[in-house]
Amino acid sequence: MKLLNEKSKEGSSSFNVRLLDIQTNIPGNLQRADITIPELSEVEVVRHYTNLSKSNFSVDNGPYPLGSCTMKYNPKINEVVAKIPEFNIHPLSQHNKGALEIIYQLQEYLCEITGMHAFSTQPAAGAHGESTGIMIMDAWFKKRGEKRTKVIIPNSAHGTNPASVSRCEFEPVQVKSALSGGIDLDDLRQKMSKDIVGIMITNPNTLGIFDENILEITKIIHDHGGLCYLDGANMNPMLGIVKPGDFGIDVMHLNLHKTFSTPHGGGGPGSGPVGVIKKLEPFLPNPRIVKKNDELVFEQSKESIGRTHSYYGNFSILLRAYSYIRAVGSSGLRNVAENAVINANYMKEKLKKHYHLQYDRTCQHEFIIDDSWMPNGITTNDIAKRLMDFGFHPPTIYFPLIVKGAMLIEPTETETKENLDAFIDAMKVIKEEAEHDPEKLTKAPLNTPIGRLDIVRAARKPKLTWCGSNPN
Ligand SMILES: *Cc1c(COP(=O)(O)O)cnc(C)c1O
Repeated sequence: MKLLNEKSKEGSSSFNVRLLDIQTNIPGNLQRADITIPELSEVEVVRHYTNLSKSNFSVDNGPYPLGSCTMKYNPKINEVVAKIPEFNIHPLSQHNKGALEIIYQLQEYLCEITGMHAFSTQPAAGAHGESTGIMIMDAWFKKRGEKRTKVIIPNSAHGTNPASVSRCEFEPVQVKSALSGGIDLDDLRQKMSKDIVGIMITNPNTLGIFDENILEITKIIHDHGGLCYLDGANMNPMLGIVKPGDFGIDVMHLNLHKTFSTPHGGGGPGSGPVGVIKKLEPFLPNPRIVKKNDELVFEQSKESIGRTHSYYGNFSILLRAYSYIRAVGSSGLRNVAENAVINANYMKEKLKKHYHLQYDRTCQHEFIIDDSWMPNGITTNDIAKRLMDFGFHPPTIYFPLIVKGAMLIEPTETETKENLDAFIDAMKVIKEEAEHDPEKLTKAPLNTPIGRLDIVRAARKPKLTWCGSNPN
């Protein structure tokens, strides 16, 4: 490019002579007068991208207490395992028994952890697992010749739940939450009818509460001939302690990229295996990897809902989950759950003097504060922005919808007490600033590479082109 731009100075270069010959054959109206391509040296390019990468925030450079997402530390050994050349294979190379054995063993581990009878690793994310599970429930009722049309969903549910249900052409029916944070049993009983396919429940729910009526809830559904689906995104605090199969769940998904440690955020890739009890096994996606007489075989079921993903899902995520489970082991999994719960309760108890809690009770792996005690009109959004100045990724905000101004905090088991205390201290400082220096909050973040964005403009006038090429 240097040659092109410096044509006048170095006009005798043979390259440019040839270029001029070509140019004379091109009609004038098609000829460009100038070309502006940035000229950068290697060191400038390297510095540019290195600095950009340093502007990113990730769980590798600080705490990331994003509720509902389980942004735990992802052991680097998983990445080493995922890069083993022998596992970098074409999915059709079926002679690679090692890869199939890993998938098979992972299915077995997931059954042991959840109390389900069989798993399919095909779905590529939690939401994909949900729609796969609903299709399985649909297939079950079709086989029995029953026409049911509605799925019950608590009003604290993640947005993907009603979306998956609607996508499968069922009608979501909302059930209220009780003051305790669990499902309102009276409302549930009232909503029951012959049309009900079942329930899609999240337990512990998105308020971080384990529903103490879960046995009663699944019984009400079963008594009406319905099926119970568990959104298993919150499996983290139950590992090695409770099996969903024991509390009446018939079909569920796990988010391997949350509970079983894969770097995520920014859109994937993920993995949302679906597990079922014995009577639903024939409906799982085809083909399945099973063992017969000690031999791995592919099984095709006539009653299957069919494929939901090519081959057996996102294999590299399955590898990471397998590596994680093997590395921490049975007692390690239980420690994960216990520490996640202890960390969340420690933080909740320390923060509740400063921030309002709508549900002041023992939580599981996450808990919710809100902005109702904030002076000077300071909002949850302001608190979240200011947390960035203290080196924390903001927690989930304004979700779940049933708590006004919600901030859903999930410290995870992988943060040290020092980090939990640093977060608590930052939150205390923020509360004081709200009283004495509210501008610091309304203008935050002040120390990050990019300041506060105009979120309304970003939503109304999205700029979806590369910088510089859009006149707006
Ligand atoms: C993350 C999450 C989902 C959706 O899972 P994806 O893997 O993002 O599709 C559903 N429900 C809850 C409670 C979640 O936290």
